[in-house]
Amino acid sequence: MKRYNPKDIEPKWQQQWEDTKLYEVNEDSTKQKIFASPMLPYPSGAGLHTGHVRNFTIADVVARFYRQKGYNAMTNMAWDSFGLPAENYAIKTGTPPAESTATNIAYFKKQVQRVGMSVDWSREFNTSDPSYYRWTQWVFSLLYKKDLAYQAEKAQWWCDQCKTVLADEQVVSGKCWRHDDENDPTVTKKSFKQWFFKTTEYADDILEATDALDWPQKIKTMQKNWIGRSEGTVVTFQLDGLGAQEQEHLDVFTTAIETIYGTTFMVVAPEHPVVSKYGAACR
Ligand SMILES: [Zn+2]
Repeated sequence: MKRYNPKDIEPKWQQQWEDTKLYEVNEDSTKQKIFASPMLPYPSGAGLHTGHVRNFTIADVVARFYRQKGYNAMTNMAWDSFGLPAENYAIKTGTPPAESTATNIAYFKKQVQRVGMSVDWSREFNTSDPSYYRWTQWVFSLLYKKDLAYQAEKAQWWCDQCKTVLADEQVVSGKCWRHDDENDPTVTKKSFKQWFFKTTEYADDILEATDALDWPQKIKTMQKNWIGRSEGTVVTFQLDGLGAQEQEHLDVFTTAIETIYGTTFMVVAPEHPVVSKYGAACR
């Protein structure tokens, strides 16, 4: 039996797919439609990892399966090329982000094509392209006008070495996940004025819609716990000892009103605004 050698066969057919635009789809087709989109990768200098390929393969298999069943099936590829990873890479290598992003995208694209995905490349885009992010800016302006985007001061993890904020998951044993030297400085909490989206405005709607979803019960429970609605009441405590001129209060949410009557003292988180306002007077 002749041994299958991918190098002998695949580049030839992949070239033919490209030349004949085999996987480009027409929106006006009368066939049933399906769009199988993988999670779009951030194109780093390191190239694809096996997790990318696994994720792309699932979308590719779904698209190929439905294509065989006579559907007008599309799978796509685009690049999540904005933000922190590109900026950190630029700092590390001294290359402007626009330059390194273009190089990385070309490399990723070559790899995705070599894997043999049935992508409609006419729909490729990258999120750092102004023709794309004008739409994210437009969506943001709508949220802002509807009062669903707002600014507030909140503490964030900060890495002095990366000069960036970090998500909770990026802090491992009190250190930034990017460095493995034991002598690296630990991360600190810093207070920043930041943008927030008022997702809580929709918590009840999402919660009520969860039951009707065709999802495993385990995932539905996770979703509900994540939203974490609890019924309770807000109790207002007047603060004492700030001097005759100062009137200040703290609102406390409780799900068990009966426990409030036993209150003998209160502890306030160090980042609570009342601490920076009154400092020692509050302690
Ligand atoms: Zn760091």
